[in-house]
Amino acid sequence: MIDLRGKTALVTGAASAGGLGFAAARLMARQGASLFLTDLDADAVAARAEDLRREGHQASAMAQDVTDEAGWAAVIEAVVGAYGRLDILVNNAGIAVLRPMSAMTKADWDRQISVNLDSVYLGTKAGVDQMRRQGGGGSIVNMSSVAGLVGVEGTAAYAASKGGVRLFSKSVALETAKENIRVNTVHPGMIWTDMQKVAIADNKEVFDQITAAVPMGRMGEPEDIGAMVAFLASDDAKYITGAEFTVDGGMVAQ
Ligand code: NAD
Repeated sequence: MIDLRGKTALVTGAASAGGLGFAAARLMARQGASLFLTDLDADAVAARAEDLRREGHQASAMAQDVTDEAGWAAVIEAVVGAYGRLDILVNNAGIAVLRPMSAMTKADWDRQISVNLDSVYLGTKAGVDQMRRQGGGGSIVNMSSVAGLVGVEGTAAYAASKGGVRLFSKSVALETAKENIRVNTVHPGMIWTDMQKVAIADNKEVFDQITAAVPMGRMGEPEDIGAMVAFLASDDAKYITGAEFTVDGGMVAQ
C-alpha cells in the first residue's frame, strides 16, 4: 500500500472540490502526507484545506498565481515554514482555451501558454531548487493531457502547452535523475470536472459524442487521476522518472 507518511506535498490548482488537484491532494493526505494547497481562488482553496483538516489530515492553503515567479518563491517559503520541507510537487493548475487556430488571437495563445506551460517551468524550477537545498530526493508530477500526446482538433494552443509540459518534464528528469528528484507526467483523458463542465456547457450531444469516443464508454473520475499522482509521489515509484502515464479509459490506445 502507498505510504506517504512524513512527506509534504504541494498541489497547485486545488480549489475545486471536484477537480483533479483536490482529488490528488485528498488521496495523498489519506496516505499520510501533509498537504499544502494553492490556487488563484483564495477562499475556495482555504475551504479545501479546511475540508482535509476536518478529515483529520494536516493541510494548509495559500493564494497563488502560478504564472508569477516571485509568487513561487513565497509559496515554497511558506511550505517550508509550515512543514520544514518539500517532498512532492504536483503542478496541476491549468486552463483550457479551446479554439481552432484560425479563431485564436495572440492574446489567447499567450494566456494558454503562460498558465499551462510557463507555470510548470516556474514551479518545477522552484521545486527542484528546494529539493536540492534538502540534499536531493523528491517527486514532481506535472499534469499534461491526452492532448499532449495526440492531435485533437480545436485544441491547438492547449495541445501545444500540454505537449510542452510532456517534453519539458522528460528533459528536466534527465537533469535531476542523479539527485533522485523524479519528474513524471500524467495525461488524463476526459475527466468530469469543472473544466469539462465549462467546455461542454451542458450540451448533451457533445457529451454523448465525447463519451462514445472513449473505449471504456464513459468519462473518468477525478480519483482515477489522483490515484496515479499518489503512486508517482510515493516511494513505490522510486525507479520511475521521465515517464508519461495516460489515464484515459483507452482513448489514445486507438
Ligand atoms: P479545474 O478547472 O477544476 O481546476 C483547475 C484549477 O486551476 C482551478 O481551481 C483554477 O482556479 C486553477 N487555476 C487556473 N489558473 C490558475 C493560475 N494562474 N494560478 C493558480 N491556479 C490557477 O480543472 P481540472 O479538470 O481539475 O484540471 C486540472 C488539470 O488537469 C489542468 O492542468 C487540466 O489542463 C488537466 N486536465 C484535465 C482534464 C479533464 O478532463 N478534466 C483532462 C486533461 C488534463
